[in-house]
Amino acid sequence: MGALAPPEPFRALLLFLFGSCIGSFLNVCITRLPAGESILVPASHCRSCKAPLPFRANLPLISYLLLRAHCALCGARIPVRYFLVELGMAVAALACYRRVGPGSRLGVHLAFICALVVAAAADLETGIIPDAVSVYGTAVGFALSWCAPALSIEEFPSPGDSLLGALCGGGVLWATAAGYRAVTGRDGLGGGDVKLLAMIGSFAGWERVPGILAVSALAGSVCGIGLACVRKDVSLRTPLPFAPFLCLGALLCLY
Ligand SMILES: [Zn+2]
Repeated sequence: MGALAPPEPFRALLLFLFGSCIGSFLNVCITRLPAGESILVPASHCRSCKAPLPFRANLPLISYLLLRAHCALCGARIPVRYFLVELGMAVAALACYRRVGPGSRLGVHLAFICALVVAAAADLETGIIPDAVSVYGTAVGFALSWCAPALSIEEFPSPGDSLLGALCGGGVLWATAAGYRAVTGRDGLGGGDVKLLAMIGSFAGWERVPGILAVSALAGSVCGIGLACVRKDVSLRTPLPFAPFLCLGALLCLY
């Protein structure tokens, strides 16, 4: 799939704003889903003082900069993740538009990227990959494989490839985790990673699963060895969250 012409400036600005608003919503998901909280109620509030956020504290990207990363009410520090996710999704919306154009294809590609961002950030922060992303995401991927021809999304896998992708992705990681536990007596991979690769497989198709897994394992190994070299509190036995590497592998292999 070749890149399309870049969007004209006004449309680019709208896409950027749209992407940053999606990022703002993803931040709510990343914070609340691992804690088992509703993503709809209560309305946006400060995690520290629990007060509802005024309008000026709810503007994607701008509020973080204007408030200098602190709650306007209690002064608690706002994690930089809020800004990075909003900026990342704004850029992703532009890049996706350039790659696949407008319409339902843009929606499907962005939805997949949203799932990856939530899974990676939630695992990094809490060690939990929400089932709402992995399990429901697998069902959405499989359902989309039936609708893709009607939506003219030629690159989406067929229902058979999508189902096989979920089974291969989940199955390979489940067998790896079981083998690791049998040999070492320790848990190396979590059940969340197994379900996440099943979700990725349902969107990507079985043929891409080996490549995604290889890139993820390589990136994870390089990062793990690098961290063990530079940080005294990290050794090669320290468990690292694997979801960010799975998501990176999926993005690199698909885009
Ligand atoms: Zn506050």
